[in-house]
Amino acid sequence: MDNRCIFCGAELGLLNKKKLYCGNTNQVLCKDCYPQYEKLSAVERAEAALSSGRAENADELRSYLENVRQARQEEEESRKADKEKRVSGMTCLRCGGQMLNYGKATFKLGEETYFFSDLNRLISGSVTMNIFRCELCGKVEFFAFDDEEFAGQIAE
Ligand SMILES: [Zn+2]
Ligand SMILES: [Zn+2]
Repeated sequence: MDNRCIFCGAELGLLNKKKLYCGNTNQVLCKDCYPQYEKLSAVERAEAALSSGRAENADELRSYLENVRQARQEEEESRKADKEKRVSGMTCLRCGGQMLNYGKATFKLGEETYFFSDLNRLISGSVTMNIFRCELCGKVEFFAFDDEEFAGQIAE
């Protein structure tokens, strides 16, 4: 293996030789390049090392980056699948964006209830509501789909 900086190709001696962990490998580089690459993430270092064409253990770097790529893709797919499950068919009243369904939550009602503070007719109790959120502007809407349950919460 050449004793050269993998990034700029400068010859390395005792005084300017540094090591930097790039992805899953140690690479040698010069002290001038070090500050620039030290700032990068492990993945960015691995990419930079590999694209220099001078990286040591290039095969290991390649498989490291391939694993990273696969993990990112799986994450992206699970995010997409998660979103598809939440599609409600409703559009946001504010911006027309897509309202995603975040499922049910139980809210406690009563005088101190935040959501219903204007309705002082409410008695204490709880009600199950379905939460929808606009993916674009973040507007949230609540629906109390259960007539019986909700009716029971409001005093005459
Ligand atoms: Zn260098
Ligand atoms: Zn919106």
